[in-house]
Amino acid sequence: MHKSVDNYSPPWYHIIMSKCVKCSDIFNKKRLELGYNTCLGCGDLNAAAEIVRKSHSVAPAFNKGPYTYVYSKNQAKSIGR
Ligand SMILES: [Zn+2]
Repeated sequence: MHKSVDNYSPPWYHIIMSKCVKCSDIFNKKRLELGYNTCLGCGDLNAAAEIVRKSHSVAPAFNKGPYTYVYSKNQAKSIGR
């Protein structure tokens, strides 16, 4: 018997799985079909960043100082979970 490194990546792996462009993690290819090229972990980070950006644009009235920025950042974090 001899071992092969190919055992770590069976042929079906590339058919149903895809590689994250950010951290090279493996994720389900159905996610790629939905338009994501990142794994779930990186996707969540993107979503959180998106919420922060949106909260800044929809609430300019509260944008009066550094405290506001911290507040909306924490808010986005709790929404993203
Ligand atoms: Zn990733």
